[in-house]
Parts: sequence; C-alpha cells; structure tokens
Amino acid sequence: MIDTLTSRSWVEVDLDALSYNLNKLLALLHRETSLMAVVKADGYGHGLVAIAKQCQKLGVKAYAVATIDEGIKLRKVGIHGEILILGYTHPIRARELSKYHLIQSIVDYNHAKMLSRCNCTIDVHIKIDSGMHRLGFAVDDYQKIIKLYKYKNIKIKGYFTHLCVSDSNKKADILYTKNQINQFYQLISRLKQDHYYIGKIHIQSSYGLINYPKIKCDYIRIGIFMYGVKSSINDYLKQELDLKPVLSIKSRIAMIHNLSKGESLGYGLTYQAKYDSVIATIPIGYGDGIPRQISTRGHVLIKGIKCPIIGRICMDQMLVDVSEVNDLDNNEIVIIVGNDGHNEIRIEELAQAAKTISNEILSQIGNRLPKVYVGGKGF
Ligand SMILES: *Cc1c(COP(=O)(O)O)cnc(C)c1O
Repeated sequence: MIDTLTSRSWVEVDLDALSYNLNKLLALLHRETSLMAVVKADGYGHGLVAIAKQCQKLGVKAYAVATIDEGIKLRKVGIHGEILILGYTHPIRARELSKYHLIQSIVDYNHAKMLSRCNCTIDVHIKIDSGMHRLGFAVDDYQKIIKLYKYKNIKIKGYFTHLCVSDSNKKADILYTKNQINQFYQLISRLKQDHYYIGKIHIQSSYGLINYPKIKCDYIRIGIFMYGVKSSINDYLKQELDLKPVLSIKSRIAMIHNLSKGESLGYGLTYQAKYDSVIATIPIGYGDGIPRQISTRGHVLIKGIKCPIIGRICMDQMLVDVSEVNDLDNNEIVIIVGNDGHNEIRIEELAQAAKTISNEILSQIGNRLPKVYVGGKGF
C-alpha cells in the first residue's frame, strides 16, 4: 500500500464507486442477460486484479480481456468465472488457453484451423463481423463458419459481434446499427435452423446497452460505464445515467514561485505572463499518462479553484497558474481528475481538451503512478 502522504503523484481508485456503478448497470439488464465485465488494458487503467476481484465479490461471473496474459493473470489471482479473450491469440499458445480455461475469440477460419492443431481442447466464441470490419467472419461466410464444427479440439461456446456507431443518434448510424443487429440474428437463426449448437450470444457494449436496450442477449460486455464515465462529453445516450467516476488522479505542489508580467516559461517559452503571476510546479507529466495535448488547455483543482495549466507539459512535471489561490504551500494536494467536494474535473473534460476519448486517457494512466484503493470493504 502506498502512502498518499509521501507520494509525488498517484491514482485513487474508489471501489465503492465501482460497486455503485455495477449495481446501477445490473438493474438495467433483462433477467436473462448477464454482465460481462470488460477489464482489458489493466482494467481501463484502474488495475486489472483489483477491479476483477471487486466485480467477483458483487457476483459478476464473466470477464473480457484483450490478451491471453491478462486472462492468465486473472486465473492466477482466483477469478473463476468465464474469461473471454476478445483479441487475437497466437496458436502457439493454444495449450495455455486450455490449461487456464480461457475462452478464445475465433477471428477467422485460419485462426481456428491453426488453434485446432494443438493436442488439447479449447473453448471458443466465434466473432462475427457485422459491419465494423475489424475482426471476425463475414455474415455471409456461412459455409466457412459451419466447417468450424468439424474441428474436434475446438468447442464452440458462443457467438458475438461488435457495434461501431451505437454511441450516435444520427439517422444513418442508427440504421447501420440496426442492420448490424439484424444481420447477426439472421446468421444465428440460420445456424439454429440447421441444428448447430450456438451457446451464448452477445452484441452490446456500454453504449449498446443504453441506446439499444431491447436486445435480449446472454451477455452485455460493459467497459467504460462500469468505470463511471462516458467516452466523450457529447456522446448520445437515450437515457441519462447516474454513475460515479471510479478513478481520480492526484498530485501535490512541488514548488511555488513568482513570474513577472512579460516573463515566459517552460520548453519553447510558449507561455508569457500577462500579469504578475504565482506559478506552481506539479510533479506529474506525460510520462505519467497526462496527455501533452492539454498544455495550455487543461485545468487542475487546488483548494477548490480551477487553475489553468500553462506552458508545455513536460515528461515528469507541469506548470500551473495559481495566482487565484490564497495561502498555498508546498505539498498542497492537486487534483488533476476528480472531485474535492466543491468542484470537479471530469476525465471527459480532460479527454476533450486532448482531442481524444476518456478510454484512451484511462488506458494510458498509471504505468508509473502508484494506485491507492479506497472502499470496497462492505461487500
Ligand atoms: C473494449 C470492448 C468492449 C467494451 O466497450 P465499452 O464501450 O468500454 O463498454 C466491448 N466489446 C469489445 C469487442 C471491445 O473491444
């Protein structure tokens, strides 16, 4: 456990907020639908193991990861539900899939053929490409799909597809999504008619759950909403969600100094003081996952006041104009993302300033920053 009294900068993960979000999301599911917790990319930067363990305490029985190593890590810490690997796994690792009871997504026919050559049995879900054109069998690849049933080493346990514009309310995007859903169901019906075993089916992720709530699948793969945030501030949601951000990013003031009117600071001297200013140096930078693109566009919270980030963000530090804040000292806590009870900086704001989505910022945070977990006891 790290000590927030001495740490230079850190990430705070609120496990009670995670439980709150999970309960809100679970309440939206049809009775026959289960939640598959998407914990890829180190649990969207929140810590793979801690997030999965909290989900398990709350009764979650299915997980999705991107890589085989994330899956193995979950098994080693005692996660015993289903674990689906969403992405590609090299066939040379087939035995590990079997040993750790991981479910592999089959991305195309060759992938299945190569995996089947191992001397073991592997559980798989077949990925169907209904229009994203990233991974999976085309919906009209019927002959190839049914050939998969001949491979004795491959046990088909499910089918899934992924929506690519379910976060939009443009007419064309809604039509596109409805077509994706229909195409997927048509394929499933045809397989059923021909008496092939289907297993579990799943289509939606976070935005699909809210914007296409009528679908009744076995699973919904929930990532970003479990972490209590939207991908972008302006994303369309059919129904407003009451979720709590799970992650905060905090730092502390390393040094306070004066900058006279007309003086410049930082790499490239890109900022020039318009008035006699007080500047704080904060020991966090792009090496910690703070995007350099928010230089001069982002803010931090100090004593409840939003202070502008000025000059270029450095690898390990950044500079903030604290002229508006009184009685400041070294060590004062700085909130980069989070809530101090009076004011809040949302990850969506930071993502907007960086011209990206919350998901990208979250997955980049914390390779160097230590994580502190709060809550999570009462379950
Ligand atoms: C990442 C991912 C998800 C989770 O998406 P969110 O929008 O974060 O809920 C679901 N399915 C697949 C295939 C993914 O790659």
